[in-house]
Amino acid sequence: MKHKKIIVAGTVAFDTIETNNEKKEKIIGGSANYFALAASNFTKVELSAIVGTDFPKKFFDNLNKRGIGTSNIETVDGETFHWIARYEHAMNMAHTIDTKLNVLPLYNPRCEGNCEILFLANVEPIKQLHAIERSKNASLVITDTMNYWIKNNLEDLKKVLLRTDIFIINEEEARMLSGEININQACAKIVELGPEILIIKRGEYGSFLYKKGELNFYIPAFPLKNIVDPTGAGDSFAGGFVGYLSTVGNSYKELKTAMLYGAATSSFTVEGFGAEYLFNITKEMIEDRVKELIKMITL
Ligand code: AMP
Repeated sequence: MKHKKIIVAGTVAFDTIETNNEKKEKIIGGSANYFALAASNFTKVELSAIVGTDFPKKFFDNLNKRGIGTSNIETVDGETFHWIARYEHAMNMAHTIDTKLNVLPLYNPRCEGNCEILFLANVEPIKQLHAIERSKNASLVITDTMNYWIKNNLEDLKKVLLRTDIFIINEEEARMLSGEININQACAKIVELGPEILIIKRGEYGSFLYKKGELNFYIPAFPLKNIVDPTGAGDSFAGGFVGYLSTVGNSYKELKTAMLYGAATSSFTVEGFGAEYLFNITKEMIEDRVKELIKMITL
């Protein structure tokens, strides 16, 4: 079967990140960038984003070498979106210190390339909506978001969810969005908003898949002894998950397998600082970790 092409709409950013051990200034990150690098192990990916004239264009060549199309990245006068964050002791949650939007409000998603799968990485819901409208060929829409949009842009987010097939969200965000404390009740409420399938992320404790009428499918995070920088874990989980789906169908069994690919892919991201490890991994390396995960969860 021919692999489906994916388009991702979101951010390409400068990130300044401080962990327990290190601080790095203005390294290249962004939600769409992490996703695209992860998904590029499986199929061709188009990246839709906006950057300023301060962004190093040679980075696009590195993306192109991994089969990531950059013609939907617009460059405009001004500075690139810059996220500044710090991780506390356990390194399981990013504390945003500053979000310098810079040129990001000008993002007007270009979505050319006739891609069959659309991934909406974390970005303002109205931009996600425009990306849906412009991705005419996409028969599968997968959406990510964050607590800020649930709090501040709920009406637009609900419009996005009406057109979403699979929604990826963390446990706390699911409680916040549904107003339910019990996570299963939260899931039951969220699927009423549109998406048939949910992926609930639980950080270092793994994630689970929810579909009405099916048993939840729980998987652990890949166990690592050393976490260098958790940035991009969620986006690269999504990249591994959606990347694998692009090579198969989307039966419940295939979705379950895709969860393992998501967990395996994101485990590489957190072993390095920023997106550095994602440039060096291969599908075979991901598959080895999928096999390990399968051993961990079977008798
Ligand atoms: P993750 O660690 O998977 O949640 O994603 C981290 C990436 O999201 C970083 O590389 C940031 O540049 C990007 N990011 C952080 N805040 C935002 C935001 N408000 N909108 C879009 N992207 C963001």
